[in-house]
Amino acid sequence: MNQKLQALIDFLDGSKSVFHAVDLLKKRLEGEGYCALSEGDKWNLQKGGKYYMTRGGAALIAFRIPGEVPTGFMLSAAHCDRPTFKVKENGVLSGTYTRLSTEKYGGMLMAPWLDRPLSVAGRAVVETEQGVESRLIDIDRDLLLIPNVAIHMNRKANDGYTYNPAVDTIPLMGGKDCAKQFEKLLEETAGGKVLGHDLTLYVRQKATVWGLNEEYISAAALDDLQCVWCCTEGFVASAESKAIPVLCVFDSEEVGSSSLQGADSNLLESVLERICAALDLPMAQLLSNALLVSADNAHAVHPNHPEFADSQNAPVVNGGVALKFNANQRYTTDGVSAALWRKICQKADVPVQTYCNRADIPGGSTLGNISLNHVSVRSLDLGLPQLAMHSCYETAGVQDTLDFVKAMTVFYSSALRSSGDGVWELL
Ligand code: ZN
Repeated sequence: MNQKLQALIDFLDGSKSVFHAVDLLKKRLEGEGYCALSEGDKWNLQKGGKYYMTRGGAALIAFRIPGEVPTGFMLSAAHCDRPTFKVKENGVLSGTYTRLSTEKYGGMLMAPWLDRPLSVAGRAVVETEQGVESRLIDIDRDLLLIPNVAIHMNRKANDGYTYNPAVDTIPLMGGKDCAKQFEKLLEETAGGKVLGHDLTLYVRQKATVWGLNEEYISAAALDDLQCVWCCTEGFVASAESKAIPVLCVFDSEEVGSSSLQGADSNLLESVLERICAALDLPMAQLLSNALLVSADNAHAVHPNHPEFADSQNAPVVNGGVALKFNANQRYTTDGVSAALWRKICQKADVPVQTYCNRADIPGGSTLGNISLNHVSVRSLDLGLPQLAMHSCYETAGVQDTLDFVKAMTVFYSSALRSSGDGVWELL
């Protein structure tokens, strides 16, 4: 298999929770010589330096300082969370069977979660001598399953069933009298007394490449780990320009982005301010020469239901990254940012598609317009066309993935120069 594709598959399979995804990104960046910064320390940034920082273990921002005085920023934002089920406090339910009590995280398709082996990953906060310590947790085996009700007991199962998350999607974990075992398993895995946790379910099915010509990729959380990976690879591979390249990965997008480490926090603003302060740069001036790519997967036209797509702006899988447009600014793309992205794709020699919601089907919003509440920069929304968004196992295109890495490499190797408010140049 193509080496790049294998790296994506490894990233998808390893990203069992937001914490695992960020941990893999840290390792990827450290392997490329990026140094960790802590928000609690003073930042001494050097020309030619490569840096990253994390917040809450579930968001990451990386950037490089060019050798020359920088004139702007080239930014991307994607999210590492996915719709899933979160393990509740006092989550073990005993009785005839032992089950694990969960609640929904984000807006998901619920049916695909049933009848599949599942497990638990995330972080446990363990007691230490000095205080508490966050540790990655992965119960790396088939542990849970949410069994369907047989058709004989629910004759309406195929007629549009409404799932109740308090009843229908509680996973089975064991037989009678094993209620204490989960806590023990957690403590053993964490290596200490667990005082708190953020644990979510994940599907055990691995990522796979399939189709007559191996043109499709399916995995959990392609929305938005596929964009996270493409932006990271483009960022790492890019050449120095006059701009500061900034890679942002946020948590909490699926629940509105307002958390310590979501796009609606002060995270990006704070990092850009600190970069400018450390280098004595005029931030407002740099922001006027900045471009933000908000990268979050887009709906591809569905093979069995083309009627849900806008007929003129219906991206197909493997037809190119989709630029997203919305008159009400749910997506931030405007004429200028669309034109600039088309120039970047021309240079990268990759196709561009467009996406609009059907005028009578409102879509979701994404990171772009939320980030702009904090840092106002020229911005565009785009995504890789995918099928079955918010299923626990989604499908997208192999070629689109490789093309997006190429486009992001060109993007991050560029700088934007605004002349007045009517002419823009990509350097
Ligand atoms: Zn998304």
